[in-house]
Amino acid sequence: MSNSGHEMIEEERSVFRGRLNHLFADWKARPFTPTENLFPSDLLKSLRQSGILDALLFVEEGGLGLASPSDRGQFLSLLLRRTGYLSLSLGRCLEGHVNVIRLVALYGTQEQRHTLATTSKKGILTGIWVTDGDPPVTIRKEGGLCRLSGIKGFASGVNEVGLALITATTEQEESVMLLVPTTDAARRQPGPGKLTGMQASGTGAYDFTGLTVSAQDILGTAGDYLRQPEFSAGAWRGSAVAIGAMDRLVDLLREELLARKRVHNPHQLCRIGDAMILQKTASLWVRQAAHAACDCPEMPSEEVTATVNLARLAVERAALELITLVQRGLGLSAFVKGRAVEQIIRDLATYLRQPAPDEALTEGAAWFVSHDWPEDCL
Ligand SMILES: Cc1cc2nc3c(=O)[nH]c(=O)nc-3n(C[C@H](O)[C@H](O)[C@H](O)COP(=O)(O)OP(=O)(O)OC[C@H]3O[C@@H](n4cnc5c(N)ncnc54)[C@H](O)[C@@H]3O)c2cc1C
Repeated sequence: MSNSGHEMIEEERSVFRGRLNHLFADWKARPFTPTENLFPSDLLKSLRQSGILDALLFVEEGGLGLASPSDRGQFLSLLLRRTGYLSLSLGRCLEGHVNVIRLVALYGTQEQRHTLATTSKKGILTGIWVTDGDPPVTIRKEGGLCRLSGIKGFASGVNEVGLALITATTEQEESVMLLVPTTDAARRQPGPGKLTGMQASGTGAYDFTGLTVSAQDILGTAGDYLRQPEFSAGAWRGSAVAIGAMDRLVDLLREELLARKRVHNPHQLCRIGDAMILQKTASLWVRQAAHAACDCPEMPSEEVTATVNLARLAVERAALELITLVQRGLGLSAFVKGRAVEQIIRDLATYLRQPAPDEALTEGAAWFVSHDWPEDCL
């Protein structure tokens, strides 16, 4: 891209940063409403009206390519963090939407990019549903077409998402990605049990049994979904969403201690200091991970993955420690249903259950057994 092209994108990015800050201040000032099982459609609508959803799209479809950032991931990180602050549930869904845009940009055909852009421009979210239900999703050739069978469990925004990127196992035991419409209400099901948190994310299941698709619905080639570093590196975005909830907990801790005139008690001051350390530590880790994932084309794939894996675990630890600290600082009031702090703690504790944390830690460690941090990470 030419210099003037970069400058234009930089200018537009700063316009969107202003709009995001405005939207955030407006929503942050609203009173908390304890409607934890309602999908945050109004917040999604505000994001759409601000043009931010369109800006995430590919440049050739009229977007700004903000889902594939060239600014160390700063704008995307801020967007996800702010959304996570206002609604962890919407943050989860928005991160999925960004993930789909990235995978379609990497592996999709012109037609698939267009389908995705058209859906997104209508303000409809796309989802990434890879976690299988019972039975898992398979794909079998049948004449000139393919037939799907099986269920995706843990499908976020199951009633909202209009187009999903799913994985399916072929007869050769290979994993392929597909981009398929998911608007058939009869196929939507409750998830495998009621989650204690994140209910507003509308996480349910979708039954693909009997659905026929064509070869044009397959995205990329077998094995692309697991291709590194994209497969693991995207976890930095999920961590950015989690930090939004940490920001909110820190604010709630300070506000409530101030309101109770307990803020100058030395024990509570220690807690506030510790909370700020945890918040900043998580934030620095995510910044490092976003830098590795977005801005270091020369970095070996294993190093990107290792950095993001360790960042994910660091954020998880910091968030779990923060939850304990806030509960200790506020006491029983952090356990009263209907209060923001109680709901956000439950949402965050649920949200933090990301796949294979042990593997992420040991894989990250395995790389750093024989490699030092790159110089700009010191
Ligand atoms: C609110 C919410 C929304 C979600 N939305 C979506 C969605 O839209 N799309 C989607 O695809 N998924 C979704 N998921 C599922 C999510 O991506 C993860 O699959 C899920 O959260 C994994 O959680 P887990 O703790 O069961 O992970 P696990 O990976 O099962 O980890 C549990 C424990 O088992 C250990 N472990 C893992 N593998 C092994 C092994 N082989 N042997 C021994 N120990 C092992 C782990 O280290 C950990 O200690 C959602 C989840 C939540 C909570």
